[in-house]
Amino acid sequence: MTRPFSIAIHGGAGTIERSLMTPELEASYRKALAQSVMAGHAVLEQGGSSVDAAVAAVTVMEDSELFNAGKGSVLTHDETVEMDASVMDGRNLEAGAVTLIRHIKNPIQLARDVMQKSPHAMLAGEGAESFAFKECGYEYVEQDYFFTDRRYNELKTMKKTGGVALSEARYPDEKKHGTVGAVALDKEGNLAAATSTGGLTNKRWGRVGDTPIIGGGNYARNGNVAVSATGMGELLMRCTVAGDIAGRMQYGNASIDQACRDVIHGDFLSLGGEGGVIAIDADGRVNFELNCPGMYRATVNEKGEALVAIFADEELQALGT
Ligand code: ASP
Repeated sequence: MTRPFSIAIHGGAGTIERSLMTPELEASYRKALAQSVMAGHAVLEQGGSSVDAAVAAVTVMEDSELFNAGKGSVLTHDETVEMDASVMDGRNLEAGAVTLIRHIKNPIQLARDVMQKSPHAMLAGEGAESFAFKECGYEYVEQDYFFTDRRYNELKTMKKTGGVALSEARYPDEKKHGTVGAVALDKEGNLAAATSTGGLTNKRWGRVGDTPIIGGGNYARNGNVAVSATGMGELLMRCTVAGDIAGRMQYGNASIDQACRDVIHGDFLSLGGEGGVIAIDADGRVNFELNCPGMYRATVNEKGEALVAIFADEELQALGT
């Protein structure tokens, strides 16, 4: 269906099992997803840009402990938080990305500032933070702000096995991914995508995932599509998932549904990738595609109601229905 403006969000994909989800936790997730999507929708309704709408939606999830982005980010091997984020403006293909961020409350806002206030498309680590503090007036946030017991316990478990994991990975108390993202189409017809993450538990050596990679985990181009991905970053990056979806639509005339399905169930899956995408096309059609048991996701219907879903086999539905 063609829509004058539209928004979709995700709060991460992964091996979510119904049996391990308590009703209270599930309700908290659904509420947080609705709050996020409605924050973005409000920006669009008031005539704001798709960039600002996507950033507003992602900011809500970065501020929530439930998701692996901003507060509640997973921990690295060295028990620190290192966050990645990116924003893309489909109007002019401008993009801003940050990686290895440790002391900024909302990395997604810094990504937007890199796009709008710097001549660059990606800034990393100390340099990115120096730009934030000196050029943009950001407040320094101690690492303690981001830490949660849940993420610490998850790291301890992961260290025993020596692996790295998506924030869900296969632990009973930790069945949720959390990378967050939003895609939006505004009333001017501009598409935008925003994605933010704490990455993988137990990551080391300055590991960077797909989230700040334009065309990997995030992409937007007017007249084409806006995409935000979640899942195993190494594979999302290697398969240039967001860029591949855009290319299939742009040059192969694939529909949004076909492009997302073929990419998420194509090389990405056969190479062992688990995850999903959210996407919006130039007419405001929304797609949610995943190859795993669940992905936190939401959109807004014509009546202005938030529609939310978690599990793969579940239809989007209004809260309380
Ligand atoms: N894609 C993220 C990364 O690899 C993780 C996730 O989506 O949960 O950094």
